[in-house]
Amino acid sequence: MTDRGRRRVLLGLTAAGGVMVGAAARSRLGLGGLGQLVEPGEEPPAPPFREHLTVILLGTGIPLPSVHRSRPAVAVIAGAHVFLVDCGAGTVDRLLRASIWPHQVTHVLFTHHHNDHNSGFSDFFITSWGGGASPGRKTPLKVYGPTNTREIIGKLMAHLEWDISLRVKQNKFDPGGAHVTYVERDRGTMFEGDGVVVTVFPVDHGIVRPAVGYRFDYRGRRVVISGDTRPCDEVIRQARGADLLIHEAYSKRWIERAVEDYPKARDLANGIMGYHSSTFEAAEVARAAGVNHLVFTHLMPSPTPVWYFERDWAAGVTDIFHGQVTVGRDLMVF
Ligand SMILES: [Zn+2]
Ligand SMILES: [Zn+2]
Repeated sequence: MTDRGRRRVLLGLTAAGGVMVGAAARSRLGLGGLGQLVEPGEEPPAPPFREHLTVILLGTGIPLPSVHRSRPAVAVIAGAHVFLVDCGAGTVDRLLRASIWPHQVTHVLFTHHHNDHNSGFSDFFITSWGGGASPGRKTPLKVYGPTNTREIIGKLMAHLEWDISLRVKQNKFDPGGAHVTYVERDRGTMFEGDGVVVTVFPVDHGIVRPAVGYRFDYRGRRVVISGDTRPCDEVIRQARGADLLIHEAYSKRWIERAVEDYPKARDLANGIMGYHSSTFEAAEVARAAGVNHLVFTHLMPSPTPVWYFERDWAAGVTDIFHGQVTVGRDLMVF
């Protein structure tokens, strides 16, 4: 097989069979990272395309580190648009495991700027840019978020300036992809195109203002992502009749049990419960909105992804909400 033919096969395997297949093929051929799969001037593989609104949970975790649950991030794919909602640490790893190359993300949306939601941004920005010997973004990265997004992501970009200049000079990354464009909004239409409408709305994350959630409408399907929030009327309004509501939650029973064992954790626990939603409150929101399917994410405290832990974590929820309930796991697809 010629070198060029070999590359074609690798790309085909990656696109059709996922990262595991691609990785196995690469190690057989003794190749290294993704950057060596495409030569300069060669077109990168086409972005993932989904005829229907598709959601992939990339990270269902929280600020406490966990090998089982990456920090918050969700991919929403509608046609050729790939939206990344939040970009916590580990997002690039999870994108690859979901067979999405970082440069295939077309829009990055933030719900708010707690560190667990943006700590993967630097890694994502550089790896989605690539350039030279790897497939990369040749245009500015489109970033959307609440009205402090330019200020905060701008500072993350400032700390990358030195690295960015080196990559343009030394690694021949395309300068066209070295920048970010911002759209800041707390309410209204965030994006509209090719039949996809993304609506942003304010949520109630206590002192964390601004904080927002997102609604995606595409080809008759509606998905709502709550972001971090207390139970909130605006989420009920936006999620009315939604197919899928992805809502953050904590288990009140688990937190109270922990405080019984460790009374010193009382203040910390009260703080968490003060600006998040319990599983029961999220279930009430889902019932009031009449959604079909409630998916929990941002799980506090995060249960090991084994069904009996997760069932105990969410105990009592189905007494309140009678639709489908799923305790989210990283890389679940809806
Ligand atoms: Zn938060
Ligand atoms: Zn959070």
